[in-house]
Amino acid sequence: MLRVAISRLADLAVCELKPYLHFVVGERPVFGEWVRAGTVHHALSAQIDKQTKQYEKVSVEKLKQLLSEEGSCVEIPSEKVRVEFSFGDCVFSGRLDKFLKLEKSVRVVDEKFVGKGSMRVHDRHHLQLGAYCYALKNGSTSYARGSKRVELGEQLFKDFDAFYKIVERSRETRETVFESEWTASDEKKIVGSLERFGKILNGEFDLEGLKLGENCEWCEFKQACRSRRII
Ligand code: SF4
Repeated sequence: MLRVAISRLADLAVCELKPYLHFVVGERPVFGEWVRAGTVHHALSAQIDKQTKQYEKVSVEKLKQLLSEEGSCVEIPSEKVRVEFSFGDCVFSGRLDKFLKLEKSVRVVDEKFVGKGSMRVHDRHHLQLGAYCYALKNGSTSYARGSKRVELGEQLFKDFDAFYKIVERSRETRETVFESEWTASDEKKIVGSLERFGKILNGEFDLEGLKLGENCEWCEFKQACRSRRII
């Protein structure tokens, strides 16, 4: 099984050539400075979360019980929850910025750190966040406790509603510049994207029919890509 980060699946919404170049041709992505800055900001968010919120420590058994109860509300500290699911020949996984369970719904919050002129919520974000929700309902959920990873279970939230929200913050100041509404995940759309991803990896596509990126300047494969748009 090929292991794929859910953020890589989301590339499909930007340019269908990206997964092909990465997983079939074997090109290595060359990320710009803004990606490293995003990693530092996410770590800082987790630290702030830990310092400013009073989380109650509960046993793993108690946590599992709370997560299964319809009436409970649970917030797990930032960057602690991981999800994973299999589809076709791939195992998709990802770490959630923030996980919440509010009665009979599970919610994912994703932080994006942006420069000036951000595009706000893009199809890529809907695919990434929708896939996290899909994983919560259909895959396995675990969380980091100290240096250990604790498995919480398979299909834990299959009967729950799943929503996501995107919060954009300035890369310079960390101020919130945009916050989306809670959005229900569209499972049908996610399954369609997963099938399309599998076809691209298996070479079942026509190069002419591929959806190509419109802004190659920011692409991490631009050095290797022969279809790159030159402006
Ligand atoms: S350089 Fe442009 S066409 Fe090539 S993979 Fe990147 S976004 Fe797609």
